[in-house]
Amino acid sequence: MTSSVSSSAGATAPTRADDFTALWLSILKEVEPKLQRGEFITWFRNTAILGKEEGKLVIGLPLPMALDRHIEKFQSLILSTAKTFDETIMQIVYKVDGGLKDHPERSVDLLEHFPDQKKRKLPNKQEVRMAEGLTSKILNPRYSLENFVVGTKNRLAHAACSAVATAPGGKYNPLFIYGGVGLGKTHLLQGVGNAILQKNPRATVVYTTSEDFTNQVVEAIRTQKMEQVRKKYRQVDVLIVDDIQFFASKERCQEEFFHTFNTLYEGSKQLIISSDRPPEDLHLEDRLISRFEKGMIADVSEPDYETRLAILQEKSNEYELFFDLSVLQFIAEHTTKNVRELEGILMQAVAQYELEQRMPTIRSIAEIMSKLNKDPHVPEEHVGFEKPERKKATLQDVMEAVSTYFSVSIDDLVGTSRVSEVLVPRQIAMFIGKQYLGVSFVRLGETFGNRDHTTVMNACKKIERKMQSDHNVLREVQTLTSELGLR
Ligand code: ADP
Ligand code: MG
Repeated sequence: MTSSVSSSAGATAPTRADDFTALWLSILKEVEPKLQRGEFITWFRNTAILGKEEGKLVIGLPLPMALDRHIEKFQSLILSTAKTFDETIMQIVYKVDGGLKDHPERSVDLLEHFPDQKKRKLPNKQEVRMAEGLTSKILNPRYSLENFVVGTKNRLAHAACSAVATAPGGKYNPLFIYGGVGLGKTHLLQGVGNAILQKNPRATVVYTTSEDFTNQVVEAIRTQKMEQVRKKYRQVDVLIVDDIQFFASKERCQEEFFHTFNTLYEGSKQLIISSDRPPEDLHLEDRLISRFEKGMIADVSEPDYETRLAILQEKSNEYELFFDLSVLQFIAEHTTKNVRELEGILMQAVAQYELEQRMPTIRSIAEIMSKLNKDPHVPEEHVGFEKPERKKATLQDVMEAVSTYFSVSIDDLVGTSRVSEVLVPRQIAMFIGKQYLGVSFVRLGETFGNRDHTTVMNACKKIERKMQSDHNVLREVQTLTSELGLR
C-alpha cells in the first residue's frame, strides 16, 4: 500500500480535487467499455483519485476487500489509461479510505455518468390488451424465454414453450408443463405469454391461475353473469392457466373450464397449462385429463449442479452484481431443493451487499444459509442433487479456499503479519493441511513462509483447542473442509 498523500517538499504542486475528479471520470470513460457492467459498477463505485505525488497516482478505495481485486485485475489497465491523459504518471498506488463511502460527492457518480443502456424491451402492462372486462394477471416482464436457463432437466419444456411462442395454436396444443414447486413453471408460462405479445401486441393473452378462474366462476354464478363470462373467454387467443391442480374437487369450475377449453381448442387457440403433477395424477374429470393428454406434455425437474450455477450467474448478471465465482459455486453446491431457494439466498446476499456494502464471501453466504436454516454441511445423501466430480484437494487449494473465505491474500497467509485477521486463517490453513491432507509439519512450515515446524505444531494445537470452545472456528473449519470436498 502507500503512505498518504502529502504536499511536502519534492512533491509536485498539489492539484485541485476538481481536476482529480475530472481526470478520474476521463479514465473511467475509457475503462468502462472494457469491463462487464456489473464488474465495473461493483468495483469502481465510490472510488476516487486522492492525489498525485512524484509520478504516483493515488486511487482511493472505499473498502479493504477491493484492494486485491484492483491490484490483480485493474492496476495495469488503469495505469496505461491514465498515462494517455498525463504522461508523468508512472505508477498506480491504492489507499483504502472508508470516508469515500459516506461522502459520495468525493467520487464520481457512476449511475449518473454511466447509465444502464440495455433496458429490456418487453411489453409493459398497458400493452397487454384484453377483451373488455376480461381479467388477466399482468405478465411479469422479468420472465422471458431468453433468460430461462436451459439444462438437461428442463430442455424439453423450454423447447416446447419456444415452439408454442413461434406458432401459437399449432402442433403443441394444449401444452402441459408439470413439475415441483419453484422449478420454473410460472417463469416458462409467462415467458411464452410475453414472447407471443412481443411478436403480436394485439393478441389477447390471458394468464390466470386455477384459483383466479375459480373466483371468477363463483362470482359469475353469484351475479348470474355466467353467459357473459363464457363469451369473453371465446375472444381469447391464448389462455394460460397456472397451477391447475387447484381445480381438484371443484366440479363446477372443472365443467366451466372444460367448455372454455373446447371452444378455444376448436378455434385453434393456444392453451397452456401447468400443474405440480402429471395429468394422470390430477384429481380431475377424466374427460379433462384425456384432453390434456392429447397435447404436448413436458416436465421440469430439479436442475443439476451446472444448471444451478448457470442460473446463479444469470440472476447475478440481472442484478448487475459481479460475485466471485467461488461464492456462486458454493451456493450452487449447497442449495438443495429448488431454484426459488437458490434465488432466495442470492437475494439475501444482494441485500447484504447493498445495505452493508459487503461483497459476499463464502463465509457470509454460509452465515446466510445457517440463518435460513440451510445448514451447508448436510451429509451428501440428503443433498438431493448429484455433486460434481472433483479431484482431491491439494495444499494450494486449501490456501486458496482459506484466502477466499476470509478475504485474506495468499501473500498475507504466508507472510509475517500476526494480526488476528491473518493469523487465525493462517493457523486454520495449516490445521487443514495437517489434519485432512496429512502434510508434514516441516513441509507446512516451508510452504507458509519458511516457518519452523514447531510453530506449525503449535498453530495446529491452537485450532484443535479452539474448535472445542469457539463455535465460529468449528464452523469455519467445517465449511472449508466441506467446500474442499475433504469431509
Ligand atoms: P414454479 O412456478 O415452478 O413454482 P417459478 O417459475 O415461480 O417456479 O420459479 C421460481 C423462481 O426461479 C423464479 O424467479 C424463476 O425466475 C426462477 N427460475 C426457475 N427455473 C429457472 C431457470 N431454469 N432459469 C432461470 N430462472 C429460473
Ligand atoms: Mg408457479
